[in-house]
Amino acid sequence: MEKEFCTAVVLAGGSGKRMGTKVHKQYLLMGGNPVIYYSLKAFQDSDLIDEIILVVGKGEEEYCRTEIVEKYQFSKVRKIVAGGSERYESVWNGIQAAEERGYIFIHDGARPFTDGAIIRRGYECVIETKACVAGMPSKDTIKVADEKDYVIDTPERKSLWIVQTPQVFEARLIRRAYSMLMAEKDITVTDDAMVVERMLEYPVKMYRGSYENIKITTPEDLDVAEVFLKK
Ligand code: C5P
Repeated sequence: MEKEFCTAVVLAGGSGKRMGTKVHKQYLLMGGNPVIYYSLKAFQDSDLIDEIILVVGKGEEEYCRTEIVEKYQFSKVRKIVAGGSERYESVWNGIQAAEERGYIFIHDGARPFTDGAIIRRGYECVIETKACVAGMPSKDTIKVADEKDYVIDTPERKSLWIVQTPQVFEARLIRRAYSMLMAEKDITVTDDAMVVERMLEYPVKMYRGSYENIKITTPEDLDVAEVFLKK
């Protein structure tokens, strides 16, 4: 079977308020390289990926071009676009800059441990399903609590997954879902699968990411990341 065209939209547009540093978390150094380097390298090195769209904070485009893309020779980066104030706005800007064919991998640049094997599992799954997201079965019991922290519900653990990225979609499908979302007034979405679920009621499949595919959000995540890097 001929390989389908694939775009990776890599998000690095967040401010990283929870990190508590002046430098945005995607540029913090980890093992001598900025956090964003690792996921760009995984997509650059994957034979399945044809182009990368890098979404960065407004005004950071030139810095990223010279200090990341040119410095590390990420030749698949076709465009560097400015993100928005919310993640979904950054995603929408990225999707619009991508080619209108094939499949789109939407990835948090703050997840440095995505690798070629995860990208391949995402590709194989999206070819079958048109909409799938990386995740792992939850190791912990998860409770739903009310606004006063009292437990309302304890869903069965075996049905619960923690959600990661890449989230992978047919390009036409995700464009349609996001363009419908952007026309709405009160937007509350925390991942891309939700957009497809809500706007199109399209079934989304989970595929296996890895327990190391963590998102760098708070300072202790960087300590954990250093341990994974040493492996
Ligand atoms: O803030 P959070 O950890 O959920 O961000 C997930 C990813 O989305 C990060 O890689 C971040 O850089 C990106 N993001 C973005 N634009 C925003 C907010 C987050 O590109 N406005």
